Amino acid sequence: MGAEKGMGLRQGSRRKSAGIVIPVDGPAGSGKSTAAKGIAERLGFDYLESGALYRAVGYRVLKKNREGDFESLAVDAARDLRFECRKEGSEWRNVLDGEDVTGALRDEAISDMASRVSAISGVRAALLDFQRNFGRERGAVIDGRDIGTVVFPEARLKFFLDADIEVRIQRRFAELEARGVSFHPDRLREDLKRRDERDRHRASAPLRKAEDAVEIDTSGMGVDRVIEVMVENIRSVYGEVIEDA
Ligand code: C5P
Repeated sequence: MGAEKGMGLRQGSRRKSAGIVIPVDGPAGSGKSTAAKGIAERLGFDYLESGALYRAVGYRVLKKNREGDFESLAVDAARDLRFECRKEGSEWRNVLDGEDVTGALRDEAISDMASRVSAISGVRAALLDFQRNFGRERGAVIDGRDIGTVVFPEARLKFFLDADIEVRIQRRFAELEARGVSFHPDRLREDLKRRDERDRHRASAPLRKAEDAVEIDTSGMGVDRVIEVMVENIRSVYGEVIEDA
């Protein structure tokens, strides 16, 4: 998905686009991060993977390795997060406390920890301002679980991506294989299902489609097609600030 044949911001329209936030929510393996990055590239917008914030909190908690109450450790870890989603060449890198943690954050132990800390309301509150400021200042595509429902409920256009559980599991297998990470398929399948359950049923900001979100079932779709469908929607809502490059 090259920016070369993409959509660009109209000259002089930067101020108009500054407040535009496009939430892209969905469960693990729905393809939301890949699609959100593709959209950001087409629009020339910033991109924030909000899941990486929760992963970063999980990472900090694991690193502290201290005795103590899990909730307060997690809330402390969520405060003053020095986190950046930085584009290097064609890749987005996650930088935490000055350290590139992109690979480390994808670890399965961190996935589970992220899901656990994200159920704590104090952690969510600490990360809310970070996400809102990020979007307000720059105009951004943000992917996650609650971006359209809680973080930016007023967004004019929001997406919810989903796919069959088996498709999502197979995508996760493929992703790990591509990264050369060894895994236990049955355990991974159970982990993903457990994480799904926890994310959908927690009391604080559970994963759900915002009523006004555009829903896309990506089960039988390639990523390019998903991006095309999203771009068509973006064009019809934000045609005044974006145009074909
Ligand atoms: O998107 P990703 O799988 O990296 O997210 C990791 C975990 O962070 C999710 O399982 C979910 O529990 C949590 N999360 C969240 N709210 C978001 C993004 C992620 O609770 N906006």
